[in-house]
Amino acid sequence: MTNYTIALLAGDGIGPEIMAEAVKVFKLVEQRNDISFNLVEAEFGAGAYFKVGHPFPEATKAICDDADAILKGPIGLSHEESKKIPVDLQPERGALLPLRRRYNTFANFRPVSLPKGLAHFSPLKPEVIGEGIDLIMVRELVGGLYFGKKEVGVNEQGLRYVRETLEYDEEQIRRIMHEALQLAMRRKKVLHNIHKSNVLKSSVLWNEVLEEVAEEYPEVEIRHILVDAAATLLCLNPGQFDVMVMENMFGDILSDQGGGILGSLGLMPSACKGPEKSYYEPSHGSAPDIAGQNIANPYSMIGSVAMMLENSFGMVEESQNVWRAMQSVFAEGFSTPDLSKPGSDVKMIKTAEFGDKVVAALEAMPVPK
Ligand code: NAD
Repeated sequence: MTNYTIALLAGDGIGPEIMAEAVKVFKLVEQRNDISFNLVEAEFGAGAYFKVGHPFPEATKAICDDADAILKGPIGLSHEESKKIPVDLQPERGALLPLRRRYNTFANFRPVSLPKGLAHFSPLKPEVIGEGIDLIMVRELVGGLYFGKKEVGVNEQGLRYVRETLEYDEEQIRRIMHEALQLAMRRKKVLHNIHKSNVLKSSVLWNEVLEEVAEEYPEVEIRHILVDAAATLLCLNPGQFDVMVMENMFGDILSDQGGGILGSLGLMPSACKGPEKSYYEPSHGSAPDIAGQNIANPYSMIGSVAMMLENSFGMVEESQNVWRAMQSVFAEGFSTPDLSKPGSDVKMIKTAEFGDKVVAALEAMPVPK
């Protein structure tokens, strides 16, 4: 029997609620397959700061180091609450970026997917959704503005100033381009390159390196789009996109827009791949506005489990079963309130009920050979 250790970082806000549903899925996958999961919980985020004085405690680092993969919930507090934590120890700066840096998780894969049958979840018109939305954003995750040098001070005129640097070297760009191009090869052989080379020199280098790497993938058609235009086209004609590659900050912003065109950030799982270890997380934040009410959509977290099963453990078929199980809950007319608009026919269910229905649907599916 194969044994995997998985670090579970439930995080803040809705994190523990949606993590509980992911654990139900791990338990069933374990029962159905010749596999055992050693699930190890660890503190991470604002809760960890208030409990032990640091958002990424040493004990959590040790658990993550020993794990085969990490499932991370969202972290963070509301704008007002976050002021209770010193700036450098606030969850993103004190825990999330250090986690990404520690495992060098440079490639972030964010599927934005809505089958035609679920077009009613989207704020876009059915004719814009067409045959459905099915694209993947590939975001560079450990470079750019978020990881550059930062300086805060008072200048010669006595004015407070801040300086943040956007840095990439060609190797950082090359490795994310290989990931994106390889993904494009496995899909429709079209890659949309999102950039801002009319203003940013970083995008000029980004595009140059892409042209070089793309020579190794002659079958892939490259389409260059400015990031601002891409934001518009995601709303006007999302069906034209398949694989999109972009630098760190563009990806942060455009992928939330991806959640917007689906109808909820609760539909946004993700995989963050490093050379030796990967971690998986919903793309969204801790949703303090709905925390503790058992109404968050756990799709993003269970989808992250599905991505882990495929990418870290090679369980391709079982991963597809998990996706299908989640889709079947929607297809039966159920959803958490984020997707149940007033006046729609959607039957509203709680977070835990969604997880139970996913488990029941998965249980009914044939076990992969
Ligand atoms: P958010 O993503 O938490 O929420 C935005 C909106 O989406 C809210 O209305 C929320 O209720 C809704 N939403 C998000 N996930 C949902 C789900 N699974 N089901 C149903 N509805 C869902 O963004 P925010 O409110 O701007 O940020 C809250 C905190 O999260 C902040 O502290 C922010 O820094 C942090 N954050 C963390 C991460 C991360 O851990 N990777 C990412 C983004 C934001």
